[in-house]
Amino acid sequence: GSLLSIRQLAVQVEGKQILDRLDLEVRPGEVHAIMGPNGSGKSTLAHVLAGRPGYEVTGGEVRYDGQDLLALEVEQRAAKGVFLAFQYPVEIPGVSNIQFLKTALNSLRKQRGEPELDAMELLDSVKARMAQMQMDEALLYRGVNEGFSGGEKKSNEILQMLVLEPRLAILDETDSGLDIDALKRVAAGINWFRREDRSLILVTHYQRLLDYVKPDYVHVLQQGRIGRSGGAELALELEQAGYAPTSGTAPERT
Ligand code: ADP
Ligand code: MG
Ligand code: MG
Repeated sequence: GSLLSIRQLAVQVEGKQILDRLDLEVRPGEVHAIMGPNGSGKSTLAHVLAGRPGYEVTGGEVRYDGQDLLALEVEQRAAKGVFLAFQYPVEIPGVSNIQFLKTALNSLRKQRGEPELDAMELLDSVKARMAQMQMDEALLYRGVNEGFSGGEKKSNEILQMLVLEPRLAILDETDSGLDIDALKRVAAGINWFRREDRSLILVTHYQRLLDYVKPDYVHVLQQGRIGRSGGAELALELEQAGYAPTSGTAPERT
């Protein structure tokens, strides 16, 4: 069955209908790319799944692992294995990155009734993951994202995901603003995360991340719902033709 099941989801922001009868099924092990023009509601979808305030669900349902996801508090969603990079603070001066990772992980473990992780064990596994993404270990001892470059912040987002080991990760524009080397490192981290019991939703405006992380499905958000779905080849087709088949213009930058 599905890990995430979205049926006829309708969402308003400040009285404006952004999502309208959106359906999406995500099974364990699958990677789904959500594409679409700027302003099509991609981030709205991610934010609703994250439980951000300000989004009014006016119809439909979202089930995660058989439960009503929208009825869960943000912390409960995280404890049940839903990861949204942006639900974590952007910058926390005074709290070192390693301290933050340790606190976040142990808070999840506590909510699940699991024992705290041994500090050395955690440090070893974090360092191994950083090595994979060629991240400077010095970043562990700086304030969370404090003075991090754009690429370092994105890598750090993926590091958080790898440490917290969610069952469903939703990444919104993780590829934006990255140079090709940084993009490859982030992609390596994402590919390391992929497993048959984990699912990923990659929200992206551009297909270039998908050169390195091959999705099982590509969906295009149009008029508030999934207008088209296909395999990885759909992303390449969109790259060529743009989102509006008649215009032939490249999608505008977010
Ligand atoms: P995308 O991520 O695909 O670029 P968004 O989900 O960010 O699209 O935005 C979809 C639509 O919702 C846009 O028209 C945007 O202006 C509107 N929108 C999103 N968030 C807000 C908000 N907080 N207040 C008002 N309008 C919003
Ligand atoms: Mg946008
Ligand atoms: Mg967006």
